[in-house]
Amino acid sequence: MAQQLNVGIIGGGYAGMAAAVMLAQRGIPITVYESAKQLGGRARGVSCNGTQLDNGQHILLGCYRHTLQLVGQVGGNPDQDFLRLPLQLTLHRRFKLKTPALPAPFHLLAGLLTAHGLSFAQRLSAARFMLALRGMKFRLPNDTSALELLRAHGQDKKLIRLLWEPICISALNTPVSKASAQVLLNVLRDSLSGTRADSEILLPRIDFTALFPQRAAEYVQQHGGQVSTSCSVESIVLQENEIELLTPQGTRHHSHVICAASPANAARLLRAIPQLEHTAKQIEALAFQPIYTVYLQYPAQVRLPQAMLGLDQCFSQWLFDKSQIAGQQGLIAAVISAEGIHQELPNEQLARKVEQELREQLGIAETPVWHQVIAEKRATFSCEPGIFRPGITTPIPNLLLVGDYTAGDYPATLEGAVMSGLKAAQAISGTLLISS
Ligand SMILES: Cc1cc2nc3c(=O)[nH]c(=O)nc-3n(C[C@H](O)[C@H](O)[C@H](O)COP(=O)(O)OP(=O)(O)OC[C@H]3O[C@@H](n4cnc5c(N)ncnc54)[C@H](O)[C@@H]3O)c2cc1C
Repeated sequence: MAQQLNVGIIGGGYAGMAAAVMLAQRGIPITVYESAKQLGGRARGVSCNGTQLDNGQHILLGCYRHTLQLVGQVGGNPDQDFLRLPLQLTLHRRFKLKTPALPAPFHLLAGLLTAHGLSFAQRLSAARFMLALRGMKFRLPNDTSALELLRAHGQDKKLIRLLWEPICISALNTPVSKASAQVLLNVLRDSLSGTRADSEILLPRIDFTALFPQRAAEYVQQHGGQVSTSCSVESIVLQENEIELLTPQGTRHHSHVICAASPANAARLLRAIPQLEHTAKQIEALAFQPIYTVYLQYPAQVRLPQAMLGLDQCFSQWLFDKSQIAGQQGLIAAVISAEGIHQELPNEQLARKVEQELREQLGIAETPVWHQVIAEKRATFSCEPGIFRPGITTPIPNLLLVGDYTAGDYPATLEGAVMSGLKAAQAISGTLLISS
């Protein structure tokens, strides 16, 4: 069977490279086509002023099992590649939730009940909410907005602002008033309500291209596959028993194609195929949310009180001290997720605003040597109730779709992207690759 298959993968992001690794491991001939010069897509390394950055600070959670397993499979070492932090949410001077060393779910309940910055009634209300969710097995009969769900469970304004809103925005990249309550519950189920290790926060010490896609490319090549960067697929042409991919470097024929391009590019490629016009239109209907990362290079001695720190009611939602994470002295990343008034500011002004917040909130008096704002305006789809997310199979049996936007429990995340890639590889190779 392996001899008859010859799979073309359009896109070398996390989804495409996950599929590539699994197919290559099974000896199935594959070629990855990546339009950019480097692999990684929306999770890629970027060089700036001689410093290695990412297109945005990402975090992984301990429950991202498939991603972590794949990083290990292609030669990474999850223990060395990440700074692992026990679940701890700190909003500077306003709120602190720290989970003690107890078995799940007691670690979370104890953490909620002893959180600083909330009244006893608010802490009890948060713990009751988590217990109610467990009682409902984290399933809602009908999806609604996260805000409506929180209000229905008696979570007051302050509790929402200090606890649930930061979790919702960082996990779903969608404001609580718009976010899908069901997807939020899926995330809470797998992270906060799983084991202690599941709720750990993992901050990569190396950039996102180096962490997985680059290693994956080496793995694929060692297993006989090809990875072509700067090679854009311009169209997909269906033939009787195969699929043609047209690239500026020539036409290639494949028994199967996995389209792992980002939603807008996938829709553009699918639109030209009459049987997939409807799917293309549905993908085009997805709305998107931005993520801004403001990198500030301070003198080497500047440090944050901890590696990851939130700010309340500021433009900067989360600050990351890259010296504590990756040994990059004086480098601080401020992340602003989802839509908001920050989008109205020119990048230069936004960087000044963040610098001012660091001065006022944390007493950092030094001036940055340089700054860099990376605005990913279509970072993720807007994770709202009732949106359409296509499945990985299409009406064309040998053409599959993967990516963080395809149907799944998770919002747009690395783990969701990786899982879709593994499912597609499973569908093609017929082997069980993904745990339920
Ligand atoms: C700033 C930012 C911060 C984020 N933070 C987090 C986080 O903390 N945790 C988390 O889990 N997730 C986070 N995400 C989301 C995560 O990065 C994405 O969910 C994931 O990278 C999507 O992977 P993908 O493979 O589905 O798509 P993509 O990464 O978009 O990959 C698609 C690839 O296809 C290529 N391509 C497109 N068209 C073509 C074509 N015609 N021919 C060839 N190649 C093509 C693109 O160049 C790209 O490399 C963040 C995203 C951003 C932007």
